[in-house]
Amino acid sequence: MNKMKPLKLLDIARKTGVVTIRYPDKPPLITSEFRGRIVIDASKCIGCGACVNICPSNALTIKETYDKRIINYFIGRCIYCGSCADVCPVKAITITKDFELATENIKDLNNKVVHYKVVCCRCGSERHAPENMIKFVIRRVPVAETYAHMATNCKKRKFVEGMLHGRGMLYVEAK
Ligand code: SF4
Ligand code: SF4
Repeated sequence: MNKMKPLKLLDIARKTGVVTIRYPDKPPLITSEFRGRIVIDASKCIGCGACVNICPSNALTIKETYDKRIINYFIGRCIYCGSCADVCPVKAITITKDFELATENIKDLNNKVVHYKVVCCRCGSERHAPENMIKFVIRRVPVAETYAHMATNCKKRKFVEGMLHGRGMLYVEAK
């Protein structure tokens, strides 16, 4: 192993000078490429979960309940890679330069986007996708409007109905 002699080390240190900064008395260098915590714009987010799938550290998670879809960002696990912002189809994620995130309350490190699911237009009871997701689908594929407001089971029934009507057959829903 190449051992450096102490005197040589001192000589290098003397020539290099002080390279550390007196943080927090002096502000650190924040470059244009610096990545801090992310912020999700709830008005743009469609609740697709693409950011959750790509997140390598599980800082982003998704939770489904009967009437809600919740995207949670736990800053404590974030490694500031920026992958979530890259994949978001609606550019709802901004990478900020915020890095001073220490807190005494762990709840401060959780940020939630809550989407309320829309009631199916056909059965009037089952809840399915968030409103923003439905609007996004219709914007992308206008012909899908009839199906976009329906829950999955009703979509299937409507499809079968259409097929049978097309063949002159009567559709009777199973009890
Ligand atoms: S920046 Fe990376 S680690 Fe942080 S939430 Fe986004 S994908 Fe996950
Ligand atoms: S932030 Fe973007 S990628 Fe993540 S759920 Fe919302 S729309 Fe999808």
